[in-house]
Amino acid sequence: MATQEQRTSIVWDYAPAPESPEHVRLRDSYGLFIDGDFVDPVDGARVPSTNPATEETVAEVTFAGPGDIRRAVQAARRAQPGWTALSGLERGKYLFRVARLIQERARELAVVESMDGGKPIRESRDVDVPLAAAHFFHYAGWADKLSYGMGGRAVEPLGVAAQIVPWNFPLLMAAWKLAPALACGNAAVLKPAETTPVTALLLAEILQEAELPPGVVSVIPGDGAAGAALVREPDIDKVAFTGSTAVGKNIQSALAGRRIPLTLELGGKSANIVFEDAALDQAVEGIVNGIFFNQGHVCCAGSRLLIQESVADTVVEKLWARMARLRLGDPLDKNTDVGAINSREQLERIEGLVASGEEEGAVRRTVVCELPSRGYWFAPTLFTDVAPAHRIAAEEIFGPVVSVLTFRTQAEAIEKANSTPYGLAAGIWTDKGSKAFEVASALQAGVIWQNTYNKFDPSAAFGGYKESGFGREGGMSGLRPYLRVSAAAPDPGSAL
Ligand code: NDP
Repeated sequence: MATQEQRTSIVWDYAPAPESPEHVRLRDSYGLFIDGDFVDPVDGARVPSTNPATEETVAEVTFAGPGDIRRAVQAARRAQPGWTALSGLERGKYLFRVARLIQERARELAVVESMDGGKPIRESRDVDVPLAAAHFFHYAGWADKLSYGMGGRAVEPLGVAAQIVPWNFPLLMAAWKLAPALACGNAAVLKPAETTPVTALLLAEILQEAELPPGVVSVIPGDGAAGAALVREPDIDKVAFTGSTAVGKNIQSALAGRRIPLTLELGGKSANIVFEDAALDQAVEGIVNGIFFNQGHVCCAGSRLLIQESVADTVVEKLWARMARLRLGDPLDKNTDVGAINSREQLERIEGLVASGEEEGAVRRTVVCELPSRGYWFAPTLFTDVAPAHRIAAEEIFGPVVSVLTFRTQAEAIEKANSTPYGLAAGIWTDKGSKAFEVASALQAGVIWQNTYNKFDPSAAFGGYKESGFGREGGMSGLRPYLRVSAAAPDPGSAL
């Protein structure tokens, strides 16, 4: 009979559960999607898009040059009047079709998203792809109710929208941008991020299959220079950007004086606040989800963890024990919690900021785990003894790194949470509803979650305060940045 020691020494581990990429049918090489077709570049270049977990090529893509960008904008300009002239009901039908096609190709899209960007398949399968479809469904429903959404006022589209998306949620961000723009009757030119263009190109295939009129959407992968050229194109009517605050400011200055409406969804250093009366185990799950979801490559990541002093040691120990159980590795394995860092550049940025945390005197704990020999990886990391002035407390790390600060009173929690140039999101963990409302109303953050974190819904508005940007995406508020709304109030007698 086994002794107690023998029994407890059994190590239960997970068998590998990789999602097969066999069903994925990628082309070897993708052209630019302009005017309804995949075309060769005029002055762009072919480049490989690599898998950050293996450093192998996922597919060859084309980066747009200035001539290609101009071509895409001109195609959008030609297509827009016809698209605007369709009834909202007709435009909605196209969007419904796109949503259903995303659902049909969901498995393939999820696998490719994980291959091209490094995120765990569980997340791309359960979050990115379903939410991308949900955004098209949501805005399909709005397409024939635009005036109703604007209080009965007359509305018209802005024209041609230039849209630039980052690498952390490539397909989902494309859906966030395209769905409302199209529902409102605009044409769009979308520039995916340099490291993650492939699912946007699969989305272009879906738009083709949905028979979206040529030119209404063009997808032109490219680097930062392509983004910079796109926003400087003379014939655009709207810019929507998600990415870093530095680039957001650059775009803002490029548009100065041009009267082009701009939506910026930028970085964050969001506070996740745990009060002593919170359900602590539940809070720990929320902290983990808040910072390790998508390797922390999340603009609203709960990267500043504020814990009430009386429970700080308990929460940190519970969190550390939970972190030790996170599984890092193959993004295509369904058991993986933490996938690959999106690029070598991003890994170096994370390493640099983590080194600064140690140099400035914070105490670092990093989970010990075997890192794959190829690819870009960073193990989950926790910093304690963090001072508000430390770089790791002030700057966006955009990696699986959480900085813990403490507070004694509610007022101090609010002051510390707001003491940042950013203002994208926040989390509040407390059992007291009144406290949650009081704190939420004092926080300068666009999205505030109570007793949960990183929950997204197409009907909810998302956007920032201060240097986290302006304008809202999602829900009814997400229509406004794509419409010109008449100043005249509706005739009270008229039907909406
Ligand atoms: P960027 O802001 O540089 O990238 C976002 C998008 O903008 C990409 O498509 C990028 O192209 C494009 N771009 C780059 N330069 C310009 C420009 N001058 N004009 C117009 N478009 C441009 O983010 P990074 O990838 O460089 O990441 C840097 C940091 O930014 C991260 O460490 C993170 O802190 C933060 N970030 C925040 C995001 C958020 O959602 N809030 C998302 C991504 C990053 P390309 O991919 O070729 O560079």
